[in-house]
Amino acid sequence: MKKIGLTGGIGSGKSTVAKQLAAAGFPVVDADQLAREIVEQGQPALARLVEAFGDEILAADGSLNRAALAERAFSSQEGTDTLNSITHPAIRALTDQRFAEAEEAGVEAVIYDMPLLVDLGLDKGMDFVVVVSASEDVRIQRLAASRGVDEADARRRMAAQIDEATRNAAADVVIDNNGGLDELGPQVDLLIEKISSWEPRPS
Ligand code: ADP
Repeated sequence: MKKIGLTGGIGSGKSTVAKQLAAAGFPVVDADQLAREIVEQGQPALARLVEAFGDEILAADGSLNRAALAERAFSSQEGTDTLNSITHPAIRALTDQRFAEAEEAGVEAVIYDMPLLVDLGLDKGMDFVVVVSASEDVRIQRLAASRGVDEADARRRMAAQIDEATRNAAADVVIDNNGGLDELGPQVDLLIEKISSWEPRPS
């Protein structure tokens, strides 16, 4: 089974590409979604977070209050480290489980949709890396239109991510999403053709 890493800076169009790949039948392992799943009610990671940061991180219904957790965890390096030491192994285990399920299902390729793929060096564990790329100005416009993100906030979030040139350099294929959606779709169609003909890198 080929592991295809899919990444892109915030507002690049990565989720749009992931949707098209999912519609074409590829299983998509969505890193952001897994990060939410491991802290759902009843999950061991949520119980450990409560142990570490207190009941105050829970909403009245027992679900995680993200803002309350962020306030406590990100106020110190120690808190951040504690948060990461609880969540990262849980996310990794669930990611491995989803890859294993895809392998068992006998699929040709699985898509790993991960915003920080290159930032965290996870691109090295992939057979192919696809980066969706667009200029900062285009991304800022889209974030404003789609999610109401203001420009300063968008620039701050982009500054916290790896720069576009470094991300693109890690790619086997760069999808240029500076144009319209009518130009994006055909590039993804080409990618789908390529996925079938590519050979995994020797490990
Ligand atoms: P990401 O997952 O990289 O943050 P999204 O795929 O959610 O980005 O795209 C951000 C917004 O921009 C969405 O509303 C999406 O529909 C829109 N969008 C993506 N690509 C294009 C494009 N080529 N033209 C116009 N809008 C686009």
